[in-house]
Amino acid sequence: MTFTLPPLDFRSDTVTRPDDTMRAAMASAEVGDNVLDHDPTIAELEERAAHVLGMPSALWVPSGTMANLVALSLHLRRGDRFLATRGAHVLANELGSAAWLAGGMPEPVEHDGGPGRPSPDGLAAAIGRPAPYFPLRTSLLCLENTHNAAGGAVTPPDEHAQLLSVAKEAGLTVHLDGARIWHAAVALEVPPAALTVGVDSVSACFSKGLGAPVGSVVAGSAAFVQEARRMRQMLGGGVRQGGILAAACLVALDRVPELAESHENARRLAEGLREYGWPASEPDTNIVLAEVPDSLAAQTWLDSLGIRSVAVSGRVRFVTHRDLSAADIEEALRRLKTGA
Ligand SMILES: *Cc1c(COP(=O)(O)O)cnc(C)c1O
Repeated sequence: MTFTLPPLDFRSDTVTRPDDTMRAAMASAEVGDNVLDHDPTIAELEERAAHVLGMPSALWVPSGTMANLVALSLHLRRGDRFLATRGAHVLANELGSAAWLAGGMPEPVEHDGGPGRPSPDGLAAAIGRPAPYFPLRTSLLCLENTHNAAGGAVTPPDEHAQLLSVAKEAGLTVHLDGARIWHAAVALEVPPAALTVGVDSVSACFSKGLGAPVGSVVAGSAAFVQEARRMRQMLGGGVRQGGILAAACLVALDRVPELAESHENARRLAEGLREYGWPASEPDTNIVLAEVPDSLAAQTWLDSLGIRSVAVSGRVRFVTHRDLSAADIEEALRRLKTGA
């Protein structure tokens, strides 16, 4: 398709390109062989990430998908039942690797506590009681904050704590998919570590809205990370002079507070969409879901205006990020309202 207008890309916050500052940091990064022994820039990132996430230790991995897979592979035995919120990335967007590779049997939990989270009672009911004779083993709960499919919804620390207490009471291990934990922390005005309290592991991405081209971490206890390092190697995620990539992640980490601007832009976009007549819920963070009668047709029409979006389960999804300015939001709304 050819655009007469420059395209505004709202498909995802992964479309950002590393800017000159980030590229300069990558170019001058100190590196070593991180598979053989040590890469100083990867080590620095892992240390800083562990600290901000409030975890004892962290491991750099190429993607959020690998971060989740490493965690699930270590937490699950083959045949274990695990719980995750309906529509969670580990259920819907990782091609079944939680079952195929990590051996888990997925069970979706409803969002009866609010968007993106179960209620403590709903969670307790989903965990259930051990059946007589040969009980199924339910061993893991996966939470997601922010929750992508629920429109970037945040789970506040008090609700997180209640869910943790139900899970721990039942003897479950808890993994938090915190691909956008930075967004949740900024929206809630709490440190990221306030959102990981009690979890056994957490994953977080630097390539979502923060501008890094590659890179995530998975964090947990020192013993967990030691095993995670072996698992990463098994999955082909050991990279040699990875400091080049970790340097971008370090710059990204410094930019977490700037996410507030993307959140403000998302609110403005949602407001404009509602003025236009598309019911869009008030975003907690940087994802706006608009209800339309035919989401595929809407996406095609938006494409013709140079507004790139994604049709997801009957809605159109817009994601704001650092490569879209406040002026870009106004321009998108202008195109929508004038149809040109
Ligand atoms: C994007 C995303 C992931 C996976 O990250 P990739 O780096 O794209 O593999 C995991 N969980 C959530 C909630 C995500 O949004």
